[in-house]
Amino acid sequence: MKITKIETKIVRIPVETPYVFSHGVLRAFSNVVVWVWTDDGIVGIGESSFVPGGGVSEETPESTKPMIDHYLAPEIIGEGPFDIELIHKKMDAVVPRNLIAKSGIDLALWDIMGKALDLPAYKLLGGEYKPKILATYTLSIDTPEKMAEQAEIRKSLGYLTLVVKIGHEPEYDIERLKLVREAVGPEVKIRLDANEAYRPDQAIKIIRRMEKYDPEFVEEPVKRWDIDGMARVARAVDTPISSDESNTTLESAKKIIEKEAADILNIKISKNGGLFRSKKIAALAESAGIPCIVGGANTYEIGRQACRHFATSTAQAQMGLGSEGCAPASQSKIDDVTEKVVTYEDISRMEGYVVALPGPGLGVELDGEKIKKYAVS
Ligand SMILES: [Mg+2]
Repeated sequence: MKITKIETKIVRIPVETPYVFSHGVLRAFSNVVVWVWTDDGIVGIGESSFVPGGGVSEETPESTKPMIDHYLAPEIIGEGPFDIELIHKKMDAVVPRNLIAKSGIDLALWDIMGKALDLPAYKLLGGEYKPKILATYTLSIDTPEKMAEQAEIRKSLGYLTLVVKIGHEPEYDIERLKLVREAVGPEVKIRLDANEAYRPDQAIKIIRRMEKYDPEFVEEPVKRWDIDGMARVARAVDTPISSDESNTTLESAKKIIEKEAADILNIKISKNGGLFRSKKIAALAESAGIPCIVGGANTYEIGRQACRHFATSTAQAQMGLGSEGCAPASQSKIDDVTEKVVTYEDISRMEGYVVALPGPGLGVELDGEKIKKYAVS
């Protein structure tokens, strides 16, 4: 089987309510949907997903579409879709980094492999380690009172872990956590995501004052490049520190581990360059005894299913910490690109957990009408 053609489309779906985090404000999901054709008729579906509206990634949908069309696709047409190591090396040879662009192709390849063998993607990624995945919900930055209200609603829907976005006005962050903790009681886990908002000295001071509200961990407290600063924070507080923006490549994850800058690695399948590269980072984390979570970019159902296939097959991502990337989107997007979408009702029905679709491949079926409706020309 050979790859014969690759097509991409930017698809933009608005959110009902603007979503606020320390990097900026999200008003729409905007991702690149990737189709990879083969000579025996199988078409793989992938997705390069982003966090638009803030300085999270150097890649954008508008940079990724031509990157795939003009640089990555010509390099791999004619290759076999099962030759995943070779394809990643060829993509790296034509352009370094650009991991989100590469992830769109990677996802489509796992979809093809699964479809060719009539197996779910997780069976090819290590098999069914644990089918149930603990889901988390992320609260957009708002007044402490409104965040507490939202937290209560999410608890009543069945969520067992909530993420409180912080870092907009650091002085209010302690109040945010306090009111959310009071609203949900001791049994719901609360983690914090600062999205790089603090200086190391600020982070140490604030986290120490937050510890009485029992945060599960604090993610990306300082600038992504300041690994020494993050290590200083990790040494100074009792709360575990998670690395998100700071880990993208295998080398960046290695550096964080060597400097003991994080206790948890947040793997995002898009940010970390697809399922193949994410498995390598999980192996690196395993060698250091560090658990992983599967973080959420603003993915459509294609990327969400990829997250679920990864978590199902990866022991390091199943160490008791919930994964936002596997759950329904925390942001209020008005639609999706697939026929089937996992919803908040599924969270209630499964008491806080989700499972991967049974495949074949990633198991997603695109809705042609929705693609037409939301495609950006
Ligand atoms: Mg994060």
